[in-house]
Amino acid sequence: MSPASSARADAVFSLPEVLSVVRRYWGYDRLRPLQEEAIRAGLEGRDALVVMPTGGGKSLCYQVPPLLAGRMDVVISPLISLMKDQVDGLRANGYPAATLHSALSAAQKREALDLIARGACRLLFLSPERVLTPWFFELAERHHIRTFAVDEAHCISHWGHDFRPEYRRLAQIKERFPEATLHAYTATATERVRQDIITQLRLRDPDVLVGRFDRPNLIYRVFPRLNLREQLLDVLDRHRGEAVIVYCITRDETERLAASLREAGFRAAAYHAGMPAGDRRAAQEAFTNEEIDVIVATVAFGMGIDRSDVRCVIHAGMPQSVEHYQQETGRAGRDGLAAECILFYSPADTLRWQSLIEKRGANTGEHTRAHRTRHAARHALRLLAHMRRFAAPGQCRHKSLSEYFGQPYERENCGACDVCLDEVEQFVDGTTEAQMILSCVVRTGERFGAGHLADILRGSDTERIRKLGHDRLSTFGLLKDRPKNEINHMIFQLVDQGLLTRTPGDYPILKLNDASWEVLRGQRTVWLLPAKKKAVRRTAVETASWEGVDRRLFERLRRLRTEIARERGLPPYVIFNDTTLRDMARQRPTTPAALLRVHGVGEKKLADFGERFLAVIAGQDGRSPGPAGP
Ligand code: ADP
Ligand code: ZN
Repeated sequence: MSPASSARADAVFSLPEVLSVVRRYWGYDRLRPLQEEAIRAGLEGRDALVVMPTGGGKSLCYQVPPLLAGRMDVVISPLISLMKDQVDGLRANGYPAATLHSALSAAQKREALDLIARGACRLLFLSPERVLTPWFFELAERHHIRTFAVDEAHCISHWGHDFRPEYRRLAQIKERFPEATLHAYTATATERVRQDIITQLRLRDPDVLVGRFDRPNLIYRVFPRLNLREQLLDVLDRHRGEAVIVYCITRDETERLAASLREAGFRAAAYHAGMPAGDRRAAQEAFTNEEIDVIVATVAFGMGIDRSDVRCVIHAGMPQSVEHYQQETGRAGRDGLAAECILFYSPADTLRWQSLIEKRGANTGEHTRAHRTRHAARHALRLLAHMRRFAAPGQCRHKSLSEYFGQPYERENCGACDVCLDEVEQFVDGTTEAQMILSCVVRTGERFGAGHLADILRGSDTERIRKLGHDRLSTFGLLKDRPKNEINHMIFQLVDQGLLTRTPGDYPILKLNDASWEVLRGQRTVWLLPAKKKAVRRTAVETASWEGVDRRLFERLRRLRTEIARERGLPPYVIFNDTTLRDMARQRPTTPAALLRVHGVGEKKLADFGERFLAVIAGQDGRSPGPAGP
């Protein structure tokens, strides 16, 4: 099909016609759930709100209709990096797309305008600001632009986690272009945000398409956080040479951890909003281009990361809401292959967030705003409580997440979470230990924090203990066979369960409450989580995603991909993603026709790189076989 073929406005296309385009340009054999419905709304000119989890395949929904109908549609996107990635990816597939933004060179801009002027462009990516300029009105008039896709549509809502004031202006689209159809796309699951998107964008009787939020290829695990560095290294060892994101709560922590991981031989870098813009960009690009494997970041790192082969997302501390957790873990395994999501949890995280939220609430002097802030703080504390419940060992993590987002989860055993894999230790009777800790608080007059109390219980020889004479207490050394972080872990569990009170402020101290006395009087049993966890097991999703794959060939194909990416100045995943390389290393095609049958190989990529990949598969590329896979 020539890209300039005349428009078939409002034409009806059959599913085989849709599939043949998907096959030719993307090399996929079938559509994912809801893609057909969303594409149909795009072709038939109905407004739509499409809610799919990250990696669900939203972009295909707005990419296919203009290609089939031979028209130009507009995609509105919040970040230049997102637009750039998408245009690069589409072009590598031979799909005529363009973007116009402030960071383009004069030559790039000319090329884009030329593609548009020739009527050859099918998708134009623009920022929300640019869509509402006289320049664009004129362009829309001239090229009969009638269809707009709003990507990351939750950015329009205050209730979302990523509000962007410039998105508010998109409310004007329906005024400026009364005949336009609007398609809003988001991964945000909450009902309130959905309603907000519909209202603000003034969608007319939209098709509301809500996908399933469960991501069966993600394996969820929660570990008690004891010795973060060692625990982290243990996990990273399972993911050597693979892409990993580690989320930390503070900027300091990202830098310290990144340095210590580099020391341990990992290709790691830090990323946070306090870094100079240039360093931040360099870190992000190094990660995108596979020059580093591990990025240690605050939540500032996220949107705009299109690397689809992230095999592990680690939370070094608990996020402040299940929404954040879902969003951040959603960056794992976007290629549909097995990926791991690990949360290192300590009850201390809850306390840390609580005091942050309370501080935020207290710092407003003004009267009217104070009320709103208090309201927001209450809301934040509710979200935090949900997250804490998720982190506790209870029911299947897939089930918890699905149900949190309002979808029932039917499977008995997901086979992909620590609870269902039976890796979780159960609560044990910790009444004796609790009594030791609480009496130590009594003996020291309720004047100290967790660190000092743990030192006393361990029987440590510190200057402070000697000076205060705390080595003469009857509780000194009562728990001397336990490591300090384990004692801390118990103390924080007691606070978390309300059996001990921790004062607010920068130097919190521990005090007894009524419940503490019940424990001390033996009127109450205390259940504590042991600090250890059973060994992790291999999951069925992991086994399946490697089924029949020649691992050594896969590594060689990966190296070729990096080489081609460097030559073309593109991120490696734009060449082919891991699903495609694993499928190649499974099928070992020997002819172009067979290569075309591999998942993710379309006609353009076959023509561009087919021969080189076939040569590697045939072993005729002069490459060493490389290190043996496990
Ligand atoms: P989202 O925007 O919803 O996070 P993407 O549109 O980036 O997700 O798609 C995620 C991945 O799934 C991409 O690698 C994409 O090429 C792939 N994909 C999309 N649709 C299909 C399909 N029908 N079959 C196979 N892979 C698909
Ligand atoms: Zn489970």
